[in-house]
Amino acid sequence: MNQDPTDKPPQPTAPSDAPDGAAPDLDPASFDPDAVKVVSRLQQHGHQAYFVGGCVRDLLVGRKPKDFDVATSAHPGEVRATFRNCRLIGRRFRLAHVYFKGGKIIEVSTFRDNPGELEERPPPEADANPPEEGEEPREAQPNGESEPDAEEDLLITQDNVFGTAEQDARRRDFTINGLFYDFASGKVIDYVRGRRDLDERYIRTIGDPERRMREDPVRILRAVRFASKLEFDIESRTYAAMEGAVEDLPRCAPPRLLEETFRLIRGGVATPSLKLLAALDALKILLPPIADYLAKRGPEGEKAFYAFTETLDRRVLGGVALEDAVLLAAMLLPIALAAPYQEPEGGEQPTVAAAIEDLLADLVRNARLPRRIAERCRLILIAQRTLSGQRRRRGSLMSFRRHPLFNEALTAFEIWVDATGEHREALEKWKSGDAPVAVPDAEGPPKRRRRRRRRRGPRLGADSPPPPKPE
Ligand code: ATP
Ligand code: MG
Repeated sequence: MNQDPTDKPPQPTAPSDAPDGAAPDLDPASFDPDAVKVVSRLQQHGHQAYFVGGCVRDLLVGRKPKDFDVATSAHPGEVRATFRNCRLIGRRFRLAHVYFKGGKIIEVSTFRDNPGELEERPPPEADANPPEEGEEPREAQPNGESEPDAEEDLLITQDNVFGTAEQDARRRDFTINGLFYDFASGKVIDYVRGRRDLDERYIRTIGDPERRMREDPVRILRAVRFASKLEFDIESRTYAAMEGAVEDLPRCAPPRLLEETFRLIRGGVATPSLKLLAALDALKILLPPIADYLAKRGPEGEKAFYAFTETLDRRVLGGVALEDAVLLAAMLLPIALAAPYQEPEGGEQPTVAAAIEDLLADLVRNARLPRRIAERCRLILIAQRTLSGQRRRRGSLMSFRRHPLFNEALTAFEIWVDATGEHREALEKWKSGDAPVAVPDAEGPPKRRRRRRRRRGPRLGADSPPPPKPE
């Protein structure tokens, strides 16, 4: 294990250290009762089982956890055998889902070692964790036949090497995420000095920061998320390692990058997160049109852009659930509005800025963004010019209200209005059930349109052409 040279190896606080009768470290009532059942049952079957990760971290800082994850010494097959309502999922990282009423899922993962760490040790004589009956065969271990050059390539490509509780704590990303909670004894188990960093409000990798960031550069986004969400500082060596690993981001699986990016926006911390990612020079890899916009438009552009994300964050933190297409559209809206506006020629489909079209197409192709979400995002962006009255509509503005995406488009429009103060009157009209009068654009009277055949299907923001006039 590459230990931070400034740190002495921490001594875990084990459950046996607990004096009998002492109050538990965390209030038992703050745990999900189904998750408690899962932990208790695993322990009754002779396995170690603890709460781990985000739930322990969040409860220790007085926040409500999103979910309750369990780590156990039981192998996936053993977990499945312990619960009827259980399925194994994942290949790169095999874990168990235990299902409860109302669609609740408790995630149970087996203690694992860090596969990257194995390179530093002599190869085991035999497989210490032979696959169990019914389990899929595991992928080759990194210490197998073709040993990767540890200097050159630390990227983790598989993660199914089982280990002890301590190894499992150490293979986790940040000290504050490496804490276990033993519900039975009411004690936090800390192998990684997570409590110190929680108290001092630091995001710090477990072990050598450079190595841990290179192993999995997605941790850059995770550090950004936790720093933003908890308002913690990033410890300086961890930050330097993040800067160094940015160039490795393109090596990560694009769907993982996209998912972690969405988690920033869904968590209501888009503003501090995007600022941090911009400072790390990571935006040009993750969201090129935003990086371009910020680079070209200087401090004014920055102010304009972050006014949108701040408005979006306020809404999310205020408890408004927004679908991914709206979140994405609201974040891309300042870029869409900054692109020169061209009234579509007769019958043409309106488009958004080319850079946004390219980004969405790339995310669909490579990052598994559902095509439906990309298309909804496009339509929401396109509708904005109609909502503001900039686009002339042929046909009734009132019919525009009946479009299936009208409400989503209006939500994004509200964010525009709140962020800039522009078009408030138009917004009020739309909200009161009316429609604003279309404002003729600055370029003069509407161009005469060529005759086109009527198109079918929803076209938000562009109305069907009027019936042909006799020449
Ligand atoms: P949140 O409350 O936002 O879900 P979380 O800490 O639970 O935060 P998850 O992504 O749900 O985050 O991951 C659960 C735990 O798994 C983390 O706390 C961490 O211990 C571990 N983990 C997740 N991703 C990684 C990673 N890329 N590298 C190492 N450990 C990870
Ligand atoms: Mg979680």
